[in-house]
Amino acid sequence: MTKFSDLGLAAPVQKSVAAEGYETPTPIQSRAIPPVLQGRDVVGIAQTGTGKTAAFVLPILTRLLAENKQAPGLSCRCLILAPTRELAAQIGDSIAVYGRHTGLTHVVVFGGVKHGPQVRALARGLDILVATPGRLLDHVADRKARLDLTSIVVLDEADQMLDLGFMPALRKILQMVGKPRQTVMFSATMPPPIRALADDFLRDPVTVAVTPQAKPVERIEQGVLYVKSDEKRQALIDVMAPEAGKRAIIFTRTKRGADRVAKLLTEYGHKAAAIHGNKSQNQREKALAAFKAGQNPVLVATDIAARGLDIDGVELVVNFELPNVPESYVHRIGRTARAGASGRAVALVAPDERGLLMDIEKLTGLTIRGLNDAPPISGPIRPVQKQRGQGGGQRRGGHGGAHRGQHGAAQGSGQGGGQKRSRNRRRKPGGAQGGQRQSA
Ligand code: AMP
Repeated sequence: MTKFSDLGLAAPVQKSVAAEGYETPTPIQSRAIPPVLQGRDVVGIAQTGTGKTAAFVLPILTRLLAENKQAPGLSCRCLILAPTRELAAQIGDSIAVYGRHTGLTHVVVFGGVKHGPQVRALARGLDILVATPGRLLDHVADRKARLDLTSIVVLDEADQMLDLGFMPALRKILQMVGKPRQTVMFSATMPPPIRALADDFLRDPVTVAVTPQAKPVERIEQGVLYVKSDEKRQALIDVMAPEAGKRAIIFTRTKRGADRVAKLLTEYGHKAAAIHGNKSQNQREKALAAFKAGQNPVLVATDIAARGLDIDGVELVVNFELPNVPESYVHRIGRTARAGASGRAVALVAPDERGLLMDIEKLTGLTIRGLNDAPPISGPIRPVQKQRGQGGGQRRGGHGGAHRGQHGAAQGSGQGGGQKRSRNRRRKPGGAQGGQRQSA
């Protein structure tokens, strides 16, 4: 079995990995770290939870240290693009942890918060910039950031960026980045537009694919409660009654739905908060912090919160409505059963959602246990055509903000800044990039 010491990582990086208690590299790490270290382009097919963040952060820190260059003002040596605020912040947290002994600088920028702190951080030049695409393009348009001197680019969760409508922005950004560059792309799935992106922008990439060691879906006790649409609220109250005080996430399809469900649960004595794209950054951070601290054990969320959140101890996920895209179901229920724990997921399925359920069962290869009898349905149930890239094109401009995280300097200063924490206890600000997704 490969050891971290065999991979050729810089000593300060190995030191942080050891301090995190990682004993052996995960499969994606053993396979992706060597080609990234060699400067090769890499396509990694891996989901959150496989250790993919360290798979690119560790070798990139090593390469940046070896080059020992200084980034001129407004530029960054490495750019990491992520689809949502949470994910960007989470990657920033990981860089802070893994890069603790390197002295390399990083900043996280995303929409929904002020421009000022981000602009000031960018002005100095950075080793690593973690950004969501819309806000980054805002800074470039304002001439507060330049990408022509960047030599390493990472696209994380590329398929979610596609779903959120970021494809034009991604292409634009990749065209601006200096050449020759190293490009590393991670995606849980490889739909044709992502494949085309790789073909157009990556040079002779090494492809590494892993499936999670134990697919989270297999460790989760899943059930379906067949209800009529107008019975869902009562069904939710019944499902939640024995769960008082336990950490649970309820997923709804719309922002208004999330607010309504949070209100309903509160009326029934649950401490619940809603998190979605219409909430301010501050509200989202507060709701998440209260959830993590256990003050609000119930979080009601739209899909935007489904990915990236890595919170231990979520015992139950309730799908108040099934998502339109079956992969989202897997991401939603993956919020439970983190870190080897088991978990439960209950879906409230109305007659018009039976096709969506069928799509989910097809994707996961599992028949989800009925918690009550499925009522007969008139006519055949048909799978629903999956629609990609319909998350509403990204809207740019107007939202701004920085999540600063720098090590080597200014720890903890600035907006959301530089929290040093173990990756296993990561805190992320809530929400997605400022206001881009219609239903989230
Ligand atoms: P990721 O897939 O990057 O979101 O990582 C999932 C989780 O795995 C994070 O909480 C990491 O701290 C943890 N992790 C990453 N690499 C390792 C490793 N080699 N050994 C143990 N845990 C790890």
